[in-house]
Amino acid sequence: MKRGTEEMVGEKLLFTPGPLTTSLTVKQAMLKDYGSRDLHFVKIVQDIRNDLLKLADVSKEEGYETVLMQGSGTFGVESVISSAIGPDDKLLVVINGVYGERIAKMAAIHHIKSHTLMFEENEWPDTTAVRDELMKGGYTHLAMIHSETTTGIINPLEPIGHLAEEYHCTFIVDAMSSFGAVPIDLKKCKIDFLISSSNKCIEGVPGFSFVICKKDLLQKCEGQARTLSLDLYAQWKGLENDGQFRFTPPTHSLVAFHQALAELEKEGGIEARAARYRKNHEFLKLGMRDMSFKLYLPEEKQGYIISTYLYPASPRFNFKTFYEMLNDRGFIIYPGKLTKANCFRIGNIGHIFGGDIDELLMAVAEVKREMGF
Ligand SMILES: *Cc1c(COP(=O)(O)O)cnc(C)c1O
Repeated sequence: MKRGTEEMVGEKLLFTPGPLTTSLTVKQAMLKDYGSRDLHFVKIVQDIRNDLLKLADVSKEEGYETVLMQGSGTFGVESVISSAIGPDDKLLVVINGVYGERIAKMAAIHHIKSHTLMFEENEWPDTTAVRDELMKGGYTHLAMIHSETTTGIINPLEPIGHLAEEYHCTFIVDAMSSFGAVPIDLKKCKIDFLISSSNKCIEGVPGFSFVICKKDLLQKCEGQARTLSLDLYAQWKGLENDGQFRFTPPTHSLVAFHQALAELEKEGGIEARAARYRKNHEFLKLGMRDMSFKLYLPEEKQGYIISTYLYPASPRFNFKTFYEMLNDRGFIIYPGKLTKANCFRIGNIGHIFGGDIDELLMAVAEVKREMGF
């Protein structure tokens, strides 16, 4: 697709992990105001919940439910962590990046019994170490990140999910930056709670997160929430009873998401979106390699959602300047968050295509020349 001029007036392309560049039609969906009790709007919310189950390839008949929660992705994760884990339960958090650490912080704030298992940011969690920890006993819940956006590493879900099942732990997966573009088999991976948000691979705008989970476990959350607004069970009950959010719904974000879901289906679903993002990632990788930029992760661990690049060794390189010069040219990249290496990140997701990657690469080449590194 060629970007039309009217679509791009004054707009910058976002190569970030979200918010992302969205299509003109997704943005246009927001040009209407809806009252929260408007029947058309209530139907849209219901459609979104059904479509999400379909997208996850699970059904109500198989015992799955969806809950939409106001706020960004973190709110959705916190709603699960603070609602699903009881006072006598114990959580194991498997960590290899800042988003895993964020879950551990939530557990601490809510005084949830928990233990963290830390792995290097460029390593997959070691299943033997996870098993050894679970064998110590007492664990009821296990949480981990699928696509750790800190680096772009995609963590294998299936082996950890099987360990969770073997040790009778509820498996909580933050699939924020993967759901919609990386195939996930919830049943095979034994996922009990999966969390993602409106503004990542489904290419909606920010405003809410969603949880796809087992109904029996959701019912067990009743009365367990540690906050009023993030009570996952109460939110579900509200949506089930009258199709309403308990508090002001992000109406514009929801109608945009409804449109984004239709566009995802039109593109060919998760497989087709995965193929486009993979191509974006490949183009970027080859172009950046030609300019001597080095990826932080070894190739087999680098996912196609977001790519992490090490700072060039040249003293002429300065990230702030690099960022601003790209920004001046209409391209937004993302700073790094690694504990052990200086890096920056380039997202491959959103309504961006091979031609956009080409344009970004040309801008990077120009900036590189001007900065002289
Ligand atoms: C984006 C993201 C989140 C949520 O971050 P918000 O800033 O709250 O949207 C959580 N986990 C992962 C892995 C993410 O990529």
